[in-house]
Amino acid sequence: MCFTVGVTDGSPVQRKPVAGAATGAGTLLQLLRDGLPRTRSELSAITGLARSTVTGRVDALLAAGLIAPSGETASTGGRPPATFAFNPAARIVLGADLGATHARLAVTDLAGNVLAAVNADLDIALGPKAVLDWTVEHGRKLLDEVDRPLGDLLGIGIGLPGPVEHSTGRAVNPPIMPGWDGFDVPAYVSEGLPVPVLVDNDVNIMALGEHFTAWPEYEHLLFIKAATGIGCGIIASGQVYRGAQGAAGDMGHIQVAGAGDTHCRCGNTGCLEAVASGAAIAAKLTERGVAARGSLDVVELARSGNVPALRLIRQAGRDIGEVLAGAVNFFNPSIIVIGGSLALAGDHLIAGVREVIYQRSLPLATRHLRIAAARTGESSGAIGAGVMVIEHALDPARLDSDSSFFGTNG
Ligand SMILES: [Zn+2]
Repeated sequence: MCFTVGVTDGSPVQRKPVAGAATGAGTLLQLLRDGLPRTRSELSAITGLARSTVTGRVDALLAAGLIAPSGETASTGGRPPATFAFNPAARIVLGADLGATHARLAVTDLAGNVLAAVNADLDIALGPKAVLDWTVEHGRKLLDEVDRPLGDLLGIGIGLPGPVEHSTGRAVNPPIMPGWDGFDVPAYVSEGLPVPVLVDNDVNIMALGEHFTAWPEYEHLLFIKAATGIGCGIIASGQVYRGAQGAAGDMGHIQVAGAGDTHCRCGNTGCLEAVASGAAIAAKLTERGVAARGSLDVVELARSGNVPALRLIRQAGRDIGEVLAGAVNFFNPSIIVIGGSLALAGDHLIAGVREVIYQRSLPLATRHLRIAAARTGESSGAIGAGVMVIEHALDPARLDSDSSFFGTNG
């Protein structure tokens, strides 16, 4: 039932330097996380810190293994190495993407490169203990597989297919997750893997994974997951935006004009999800005599050229575009990334989205707007769950105020 997938390499991540307010080693590390090697003088010039201060910070980061000498080390002459660069291999993280019926767990380095991963058919409805026991057991197996000790593990990030209160790591009234409501996921997981545990919903971690891996240069990103349901992950100024209660981006239950009085599972009528989700398209096809059980069947039909399926996907794209046109005026994103299983049906969904957004949104908001298909594929959730941990652990303000992180090279 479980199988291990091959190792993949992520592309290099370009990150905006944090010049100006530099104070501690964490800030210096953030600057070096773009992967470019720099000398002490360059670091001093960029940060405005005194050369002696930079030397102290660099020594702390070297001791922690988080940066490494790069380029010509000139060690024979007894001179110190000239340049330093971020060392993504210094630590590892685990990312778990726990879907409705499928789980994916990956161990990555600090640049989000997948070192090893495992997939399994796993029903979230088995309840938190069974699902999280699987996560812990296979997390330990992955550490063995990449031959890294627990001390190298910075933390584990977990994505769940329902509403999550990120600050406490608990699911809140999740519709398809019996037994999970209010369950303390971090407390339970850290009994088996004693490291920090962070939890978020599946769409937010997919948005993080896509942004980190494929679109780091875009500060304001909307990631659309169009699958059995429809959701949106929001990256604002490079950070996940969750809103007051973690409900930000729940665009599936915004009304669309063409939905009429179609009933939605949320109890309202006319929701986007009720007409444009994979489940809704499958139901419409079935009504017309084309058998389809869910979004994967819809994708299959579209790929084989089934005309009603193609038309319905295009219309779903327009309906999604209608909601997004309002979001574009309101939020002014620099990129919209369309992902989820429905996006696998080819260009039809994204063509419908583009058609309506460019027609309906304000010219200033669409002038430089890019609308693109997701690039990270099935790994985006697991990678994003790991990225959530990396960003938390390497947060400059956190590191600058917690010197215990340094000098403990595991
Ligand atoms: Zn609804």
